[in-house]
Amino acid sequence: MCWWFYKSLPIFYGILTIYEVICGIFRLGIYYRFMQNGSYNYGKSLFDNGTISIARTTLSENRKVSQIVAGFIIDCISSLIPCMMGLFIIFIFLWFGYRILRLFCSCHHRARTNFHLRHLITNRRIQRFLLFNCNCPCYIARPKWRFLVRFLFITISIGLRVLAIILYATASTHTNDKFFSRTQKLSWICGITLPSSILTLLLDYYHYRVWWHYIPSCDQNPFHRRYLKKHRRFIPHHLMGAHRNEIQLWNEPCELRQFCFNQTLEHIMIFHYNTHTPTPRWCDVPNKDPLTTTYIGFHRTDAQAAVSIAYTDFRTSRTGRQMLGFGIYFARSSFHTQFKARRNGAVICAKILMGRVLEIENDELANVSNSDAWHQNFDTIYYRHPRNPLRDEFCIKSNEQILKWVMYIEPPFDTKVEQYGLHREFSDTLCNCI
Ligand SMILES: [Zn+2]
Ligand SMILES: [Zn+2]
Ligand SMILES: [Zn+2]
Repeated sequence: MCWWFYKSLPIFYGILTIYEVICGIFRLGIYYRFMQNGSYNYGKSLFDNGTISIARTTLSENRKVSQIVAGFIIDCISSLIPCMMGLFIIFIFLWFGYRILRLFCSCHHRARTNFHLRHLITNRRIQRFLLFNCNCPCYIARPKWRFLVRFLFITISIGLRVLAIILYATASTHTNDKFFSRTQKLSWICGITLPSSILTLLLDYYHYRVWWHYIPSCDQNPFHRRYLKKHRRFIPHHLMGAHRNEIQLWNEPCELRQFCFNQTLEHIMIFHYNTHTPTPRWCDVPNKDPLTTTYIGFHRTDAQAAVSIAYTDFRTSRTGRQMLGFGIYFARSSFHTQFKARRNGAVICAKILMGRVLEIENDELANVSNSDAWHQNFDTIYYRHPRNPLRDEFCIKSNEQILKWVMYIEPPFDTKVEQYGLHREFSDTLCNCI
């Protein structure tokens, strides 16, 4: 439903920019006429510079002329994108004219001309180049950076344009001169371009929301979408660590690998492979304190259950055979959840307050399994795997120990990335950037 809006974002950007180009052409026209008049007036005043009163008016007029020139220069700088677009449109017209001229010479090229023109306008690289919306590889895994850069760029251009409006407006007030009141139009036309800059900013914000405040297709709640505060975000599968590229500059996985102690959940999911264990074995965790020590755990479930967790938190399972007793189960890495979980389709990476921990090995399993007797004395049962420390797992007694989480829905259960074309957004990047 919303995917067509996302996919036609370039069209909306294009419409806004063309609107600005049209306003820009009007401003250019007014400014040109103004400069012609100005030089004429200036020349006239040079001839009759006899009386003081005329000298005074030319002095203040000169000041106003230079103020409008300054305003126009600032206006130009703030209209960098429309300027580029304008040049592009002129280029297309020239090119088209050239093609038509050629058509008169030989009558066979029409179909090819149309094809090339369409090709030129729908080329996403050209669109990105014209809109100053480049595809730096550092943006592949960091949607926030793109938004911040765009936000900075657009706010600066809005600021400059406001400055230009003020310069135009103050130059044309307090005067009855027809010649100056005409320039008041400049500030008006400049003013009506501001909404389009703000709309561009909103479109950028929407783009950022789709990526970083992602909602998977399996969340069917169209309205009233209130996730728990603990639910930080869904991570679309094209952002996951498996899509990082060792040889692509700025898109590499975290270089510290297993020695990385960054416990930001997004960092773990996006910049590390699924075999990464962000926290050491519980017995190797230094300075353990039951009130503050946190641990990172991975939980696997199916897509529907994951979505309902986002709304209503984890539930402790009290049915079936439970190796470590009743509670919520976690593994040390996303990869090792695969062998334990009974359901499939979503991985949740959570930050957990461990509390009082009981570490057990194989021979002590009988004391805890299929019961909640340990809930009285402990908050967490940590099971040490006899052969492979990576396959350790733990069970917590209550969902209050879970501080926050991020989720990842696996591709067959989440079709939104394909539907929106998010995974292909960087595939046609030229020269690493455009
Ligand atoms: Zn770039
Ligand atoms: Zn970059
Ligand atoms: Zn790292």
